[in-house]
Amino acid sequence: MTAERDMYEVLGVERGATDAEIKRAFRKLAQQWHPDVNAEPEADGRFKEINEAYQILSDPQRRQQYDMFGRAGVSGAAGGADPFGAAGFGGFSDIFDAFFGGTMGGQTRRARPQTGSDLRYDLRITFEEAVLGTEKEIEFPVLGRCDTCGGSGAKPGSTPSTCTQCNGRGEIRSVRQTMLGQMVNVQPCPRCHGEGRTIDAPCETCRGEGRTQRTRTLRVSIPPGIDEGHQVRLSNEGEVGPRGGAPGSLYVAVHVAEHETLTREGTELFYEAELSIAQASLGTKLKVPVVDGEAIEIDVRPGTQPGTEIRLRGRGVPHLRRPNQRGDLHVMVNVVVPTKLSKHQRELLEAFAKESGEVVSGGGLREKLGLG
Ligand SMILES: [Zn+2]
Ligand SMILES: [Zn+2]
Repeated sequence: MTAERDMYEVLGVERGATDAEIKRAFRKLAQQWHPDVNAEPEADGRFKEINEAYQILSDPQRRQQYDMFGRAGVSGAAGGADPFGAAGFGGFSDIFDAFFGGTMGGQTRRARPQTGSDLRYDLRITFEEAVLGTEKEIEFPVLGRCDTCGGSGAKPGSTPSTCTQCNGRGEIRSVRQTMLGQMVNVQPCPRCHGEGRTIDAPCETCRGEGRTQRTRTLRVSIPPGIDEGHQVRLSNEGEVGPRGGAPGSLYVAVHVAEHETLTREGTELFYEAELSIAQASLGTKLKVPVVDGEAIEIDVRPGTQPGTEIRLRGRGVPHLRRPNQRGDLHVMVNVVVPTKLSKHQRELLEAFAKESGEVVSGGGLREKLGLG
């Protein structure tokens, strides 16, 4: 370490970096530059540098000294060639973490069979069912526990035996001496695939898998307020794992059909009502479709303007998590101007315009233009 770079720069973090940011940066760099994985000649030096920076910046007291006095403030503390000497040994679990995902301290992964895969089922429901909730029976193929061997994979009458390669531990540990001291490498046992047991006489039904293909029927309850793209998770209803492994989950992905006249945004429903000029001017009654029951009749006040919104409180969609609360149904009023008029309708509108003192292009203009 001749060129003494700034320690924050070494780890590629800001001076104000949090402990978590420092740790993350260190892990990433350690994995990249560890001499066991990086064959570049500079890897050794880089790794030492990274490690030294981490030793100091991860210790609040030493970090403060470094911030105030620079390298002089921390020299002697971690500047030695052996960062894992008595002073720096606390860093070992971090190195270990960085490589093996955090199983330091004699803690061993218990040998166990793999968990089964999750499954996905696409369920189509109507608009109303999504709003009000429903129950559906679904049928799907799944790998279930083998009835012959009860999932063990061993022929009835026989039992699986302890794996001779890992002695039932399910993992193989190797200890190497490196410049950092001992490195413990833990890998799943290749013979038993981490299960710790092997099957000498496989069950004939499942050929030692412990599971068989079958069709399962389930009732799925779809809560009110569910929406397109939501998933209902049924834990333990996925595939079972091989040889007694726990089952995965079943995800029911919900697809909602469109409604003829209503649209939905979250808990809110929208209905577009078209009124004529006369209806908007004079008022009218309007039938609005709802998802639960008969259409409801509402009064439209005389003089209703285009773009008016009439809100029917509580006639929208229930909140998924708070089913007692419902959104609203919004009636959006559109006023439609007629494009075709009978002769009499035109006369009436012209009379209306005359009464209001309005200038209109009536009075036979259309006939003159040949549009009548
Ligand atoms: Zn079987
Ligand atoms: Zn084994």
